[in-house]
Amino acid sequence: MGAVSESGDRGSANARAVARARAVLPGGVDSPVRAFGSVGGLPRTIASARGAYVTDVDGIAYVDLVGSWGPALLGHAHPEVVDAVRTAASRGLSFGAPTEGEAELAELVIDRVRVGSGGGALRPLEKMRFVSTGTEATMTAIRLARGATGRDLLIKFAGHYHGHSDGLLAESGSGVATLGLPGSVGVPEPIAGLTLVLPYNDLDAVRAAFAAHPGRIAGIITEAAGANAGILAPGPGFNRALVELAHAEGALVILDEVLTGFRVGPAGWWGLEAAADPYTPDLFTFGKVIGGGMPLAGLGGRAELMDLLAPLGPVYQAGTLSGNPLAVTAGIATLRLADADVYAQVDANATRVSAAVDAALTAAGVPHVVSHAGSLFSTAFRADPVRDYADARAQDAFRYPPFFHALLDAGIAPPPSVFEAWFLSAAHDDAALSRVEEALPAAAEAAAHARPRTA
Ligand SMILES: *Cc1c(COP(=O)(O)O)cnc(C)c1O
Repeated sequence: MGAVSESGDRGSANARAVARARAVLPGGVDSPVRAFGSVGGLPRTIASARGAYVTDVDGIAYVDLVGSWGPALLGHAHPEVVDAVRTAASRGLSFGAPTEGEAELAELVIDRVRVGSGGGALRPLEKMRFVSTGTEATMTAIRLARGATGRDLLIKFAGHYHGHSDGLLAESGSGVATLGLPGSVGVPEPIAGLTLVLPYNDLDAVRAAFAAHPGRIAGIITEAAGANAGILAPGPGFNRALVELAHAEGALVILDEVLTGFRVGPAGWWGLEAAADPYTPDLFTFGKVIGGGMPLAGLGGRAELMDLLAPLGPVYQAGTLSGNPLAVTAGIATLRLADADVYAQVDANATRVSAAVDAALTAAGVPHVVSHAGSLFSTAFRADPVRDYADARAQDAFRYPPFFHALLDAGIAPPPSVFEAWFLSAAHDDAALSRVEEALPAAAEAAAHARPRTA
């Protein structure tokens, strides 16, 4: 369509890179949504990224609205983060022994995740453990909840994504939603059966689950704000009510802030909510921004719970590369740079782009809703608000691929699935944002003219 579609053309360096990858990597990727399965066409093979832009192997730069699925809060390759990592790399890549950086990052996280200050502050984190991926963080948090309560069952919500471990893929968001799968083959029924999948934003369903399984539910895991099946923000007071219900039943709450943590604000989604309406989840999980683009994630909570982890306690967890010095360095540098100005800029940028998306689709007469959770937003092609996963699926998803490709051809890279959030950074400047605004009207027209696929 536009002037810059060469990377989708057969003679391009990108086309050759995709063919090469597909021969030796399933789907040509190491994580499913990257393959463009739900939007069609060739994924762009990225050679480099800087600030608001990613550049593919044909040298075509795109305004990036994916941000590595969240980590790139400051923009790509922030010079101070890259310098810190380069310096750390010169001292060695991995030691398999404690480093000072791990304690420094833990202190930083523990200090940020609070509301208020001084003696009256609410501080839900006393200790952290660092791992390499969000999947490990949630897996370990669940094991800890089970170990602490001596119970087996776990509540999760439909459309929430907590990584790809067994037991968490049922009615999951992210790639599982994109591919329209009920879960995953290869998860044994006895394991899947330990997860109770409930509709989101439905406290009666939670009460009914506790009533049906008295004394058997170890905990509830919930995305702090649902952001993996499009944005599904929790209703006001929902997270606090979960904590109250769980605690009344002797169960724990794991607030999964892998995506929202340090992205929607300095103390994550919890910080936004708890400032006005305090509540205390038992365990938090973090990932994405916490590693500043390197493989790092973590879990934290009060000391008495966290000390149940080995070596102090009987709940086992370990990792050859856990707390990797380069990843910890990137995390420290990123969190130190992520100040109030950064969050104000990311908020303003997200407001500007989401308003432009909304206006373009409205002008083109396309039924849609834009859902928000802080600076995160997503579009659903339906007239009514999205409150749960069933709503998110009940949309004209066929409108997204032509919308997406019109943007891509214009040098804009939105998420390659209607079920993923759009991510802005503090590095998106007026030039980048104007480019997005200019491309949106034609993309909205393409969405307006889309027709459902017929078999
Ligand atoms: C991305 C994500 C995970 C999994 O993190 P990985 O690092 O991809 O394993 C877990 N929970 C939430 C809410 C996420 O968005």
